[in-house]
Amino acid sequence: MIRVRFAPSPTGMFHVGGARSALFNWALAEQSGGTFVLRIEDTDAARNRPEWTEGIISALAWIGINGDSPFFEGPYFQSAYEEQHREAVAKLVAGGRAYYCTCTRDEVKARTGSEHKGYDGFCRDRGLTEGAVRFRTPDDGVTVVQDLVRGTVEFPNEAMEDFVVARADGSPLFVLANVVDDIEMRISHVVRAEEHLSNTPKQQLLWEALGVAPPIWAHVPVIVNDKRQKLSKRRDKVALESYREEGYLAEAMVNYLMLLGWGPGDDREIMPWAEMVPLFDLGSVNPSPAFFDEKKLRAFNGEYIRALPLDTFVARCEPWLDPSWDRGTFAKVAELAQTRIAVLSEITANVDFLFLDEPVFDQASWDKAMKNAAVEILTGYLARLEKVNMDSESLKSALEEVGAEHGLKLGKAQAPVRVAVTGRTVGLPLFESIEALGRERSMDRIRAALA
Ligand code: GLU
Repeated sequence: MIRVRFAPSPTGMFHVGGARSALFNWALAEQSGGTFVLRIEDTDAARNRPEWTEGIISALAWIGINGDSPFFEGPYFQSAYEEQHREAVAKLVAGGRAYYCTCTRDEVKARTGSEHKGYDGFCRDRGLTEGAVRFRTPDDGVTVVQDLVRGTVEFPNEAMEDFVVARADGSPLFVLANVVDDIEMRISHVVRAEEHLSNTPKQQLLWEALGVAPPIWAHVPVIVNDKRQKLSKRRDKVALESYREEGYLAEAMVNYLMLLGWGPGDDREIMPWAEMVPLFDLGSVNPSPAFFDEKKLRAFNGEYIRALPLDTFVARCEPWLDPSWDRGTFAKVAELAQTRIAVLSEITANVDFLFLDEPVFDQASWDKAMKNAAVEILTGYLARLEKVNMDSESLKSALEEVGAEHGLKLGKAQAPVRVAVTGRTVGLPLFESIEALGRERSMDRIRAALA
C-alpha cells in the first residue's frame, strides 16, 4: 500500500517547487489507490506563521489536493507529536544508538583545530545523562541510499559526524522529528526536493536504528530560472499564490508543474491531469535541474484558456470584471477576448473601454496613433458612423473607404480610430469592439479625440 506524504514547513509563501513535489506525491497516491498525507512541519515556532499554513492549505486545494479526494489524509501538525519524538530519542539513548553530549562548539573546535571537521565523538562513551543528544554514526563503511530518481548514492560514513537529534532542553531536531513522523504515519515513499538528499543518509540510519525498514526515497530535481540559478523567493516569482492572482488556471499550472523533471514520454506536453496520473513514474524523473520557463507556462495557460467552453471562460473572468460592468455587454466580446489573452487578469485591459466613461489613454499610444492624417481619418469616419450599419463588416468597409481617400491601407487607418475608441493600440478586433460599444458612444469618443 503506497503511503506518501507532503511535509511543508510554513515559513513563507507556498513555493512552486513545493507544489511540484506535492503533485508528484499526489499522482503516486492516486495512480495506486494509496494515500497522500499532508503534514505541516511547524516545529520551528520562531519561523512559522498561521497565515502561511493557511496559504499552503489553500494553494494545495487550488491545484486539486484537498480533502474532497479519498486519497487525502490530514493535515497533521508535527508540533502535536513532540511526545513521540522525545520517546524516540529516549529509545535511541537506551539502545546505545545515541548519547548525551555537553561539548560546546568552541571546545570541539579547540580539539579538532577546525570549524569544519565536525564533531569528534568526545562524549561518546562518557555515560553522561544530560546535554544534547547525538546519534552515533558508523565509523567506516558507506551508507547506501537507493533513490528512485538518482539511483544508488553512497555516503562515506567517515564524513558523517555524530549528529544532534535533540537539543539540551530535550527538544527534538527536524532530522529526527521528520523520521519519527514518517514512521508513525507508515510512509512507504519519501518523495521530496533534492535539497534534502544530504539529510537522507542520516535519516536512513535513524529508520534502521528505530527498528523500521527505510522508505523508498526519491529526490526530485531543483528548479532553476533562465540563468540556471536555483529559484529563490528573493529573486524569482515563486509563490503559487501570485500565479493564481494573475489569472493562471489551476489546470494549466498543474500540467506545467508536472513537466518540471518529468514528461509523459512522447511529444505531448499539454495533457490533462487524469491522463498524466497513470503514466507518472518516479523512475523516469530526470535528475538534472528543471527550468521554470514562465513564457512557456504563459503559453500553456493561453491554450487552456482557449480550450474552455465559453460560459466557463466567462465565469472564470468574473474576478477581474468590475461589479458595475454590464455582463450582457461583456458577453458580446468574451469569445473574441478568449482567443487573445494568456492570463485571465488581461481581460480587464481588453474590455474596460466598453464600460468606462472615457477609455484609459496612455500618452505613448496616443502619440503613436495620432500621425498619418489621423485627424482626417477620424473626421471622415465620424461622418460615416452616423449612418453606417452597426455590424463589423459594414464598419470595416466604411473605414476602408475613408482610408482610401487618404491613401492609407486599412491597417494604418485603424490606428487612430482604435486609440480614440479603446484608448489602446492593441486589443480586441476593432470593428467588433465598435459594434459592442455602439454608435453613440463610439462617435462621442471620436469627437473627444478630435477636440
Ligand atoms: N519540512 C521540510 C521542508 O519543508 C520537508 C521535509 C521532507 O519532505 O522530508 O522542506
